[in-house]
Amino acid sequence: MSSTNNASPGKGERVRFAPSPTGYLHIGGVRTALFNWLWARKTGGTFILRIEDTDQERSTEESRKVILDSMKWLGLLWDEGPEVGGDHGPYTQMERLALYREYADKLIAAGKAYRCTCTKAQLDVQREELKAKDPKATFRYPGTCRDANHPADSVHVVRFKTPTHGVLTYHDMVFGKVSTPNAAQYDFVLLRTDGIPLYNFGAVVDDITMGITLVARGRDHMVNTPPQIMLYEALGAKPPRFAHLPMMLAASGEKLSKRHGAVSVEEYQKGGYTPTALLNYLVRFGWSHGDQEVFSLDEMVEAFDWEHCNKADGKFDPKKLLAINQEHLKQERLTPSADYETNARWFLAARGLTDIDTERLQAAIPLVRPKARTYVELADLLDFFFRDEPVFDDKAAAKFLVAENVERLRAAADLVETCEAWTLEAITAAFNAWLAEQKLEIKDVAQPARVALTGRTASPGIYETIHVLGREPSVKRLRSGAARAGRDGAARAERA
Ligand code: GLU
Repeated sequence: MSSTNNASPGKGERVRFAPSPTGYLHIGGVRTALFNWLWARKTGGTFILRIEDTDQERSTEESRKVILDSMKWLGLLWDEGPEVGGDHGPYTQMERLALYREYADKLIAAGKAYRCTCTKAQLDVQREELKAKDPKATFRYPGTCRDANHPADSVHVVRFKTPTHGVLTYHDMVFGKVSTPNAAQYDFVLLRTDGIPLYNFGAVVDDITMGITLVARGRDHMVNTPPQIMLYEALGAKPPRFAHLPMMLAASGEKLSKRHGAVSVEEYQKGGYTPTALLNYLVRFGWSHGDQEVFSLDEMVEAFDWEHCNKADGKFDPKKLLAINQEHLKQERLTPSADYETNARWFLAARGLTDIDTERLQAAIPLVRPKARTYVELADLLDFFFRDEPVFDDKAAAKFLVAENVERLRAAADLVETCEAWTLEAITAAFNAWLAEQKLEIKDVAQPARVALTGRTASPGIYETIHVLGREPSVKRLRSGAARAGRDGAARAERA
């Protein structure tokens, strides 16, 4: 494994996304992944996916799979990492334990780390003693084993000999100059007794050996940056640049979690969002490019920079995400028809509608496309086109499929049946002539006909609907609507 931390800034950057496989892929995590991915694409660099699975109790194979699948669905494909490999692997931390041991031994040999044999019980006693004296004090490991030189075969953790004087300063790409007094640190653990690294050490060893040049991650990791920079210095490695990103909060100001609604990528996938719309929302969350709101993936890569990232935390806005999704679904340049059609089929199939006539689908889509905010809504709007009979909204049927409308529904069925040419113009003309003759207005017929044809009170234009549905199905539905309206009349007469 070689260290290749020598790329010039802004060119061929090596960046990484390092999720822990302890659950689903959270949209806050996607924002972090996206900013790294954009930077790799923009600089002609390398986007690395690393699995940080050292929390053995919470890490699962299932979660790892969900994360990888979500990344693929989003199109955030990685150049190095699980499944694709690369020169700096393995890319899963539990497969790199020998490396962490090697780096810990180097630090011990250089007098920059030491073996500590203090037991948890001993430390608990010290913590309690401190608490008794000063309930507000934070317990920091007092350095008991700093100079003890315990042998390698002792039961020990490895601790870092943390500098305790001076101030550590770095330049954050988003937050600017950040300084912290070293006295705020303590001799933190690098390796546990079982040889598994703690987060800071594992991340630094990996970032060094994977040649990472820029680390972009959530602001919640800012506390880890000073100890990590100390580790780079102790290991004689040049630290990468850091960019910390504002947090994504719920409307209440709390950390965004499942309690606040959908937060996993899978939920948005199932909810009929397009991956690029989700990425578009996330890129605008905490970054701006003039007043542009809608971006294709290429436009994001082109425009992205660190200078226009916000420092302030923001609130996740599901309504805005929905509006952006609608925009992406509407615009052909963002969602080409072929993709749109594939998704329409997929979401219709999810409703049990698998026998889809291509011609009818292609004719029906333009009628509903401007309205559908998600593919789930799209499938709902298309539903009645692909059933033998529409699914009736009971309230709509009770209101419009009534005795007064029997004749109008029959007349509509006759018009459709006898309309000479099967074009939208001919259907419209046939209805217009009949309406004029009967001294009726379209609204007198449209709602009962709409309910008979679609089962609902809202649908695309009535003539368009008839045209796309086809002559035979339309006649059948209008006649059965008339029959239902007749039965309603009979039932009412009986009750009276
Ligand atoms: N595994 C860490 C996390 O999921 C990675 C943090 C980092 O990017 O350094 O939060």
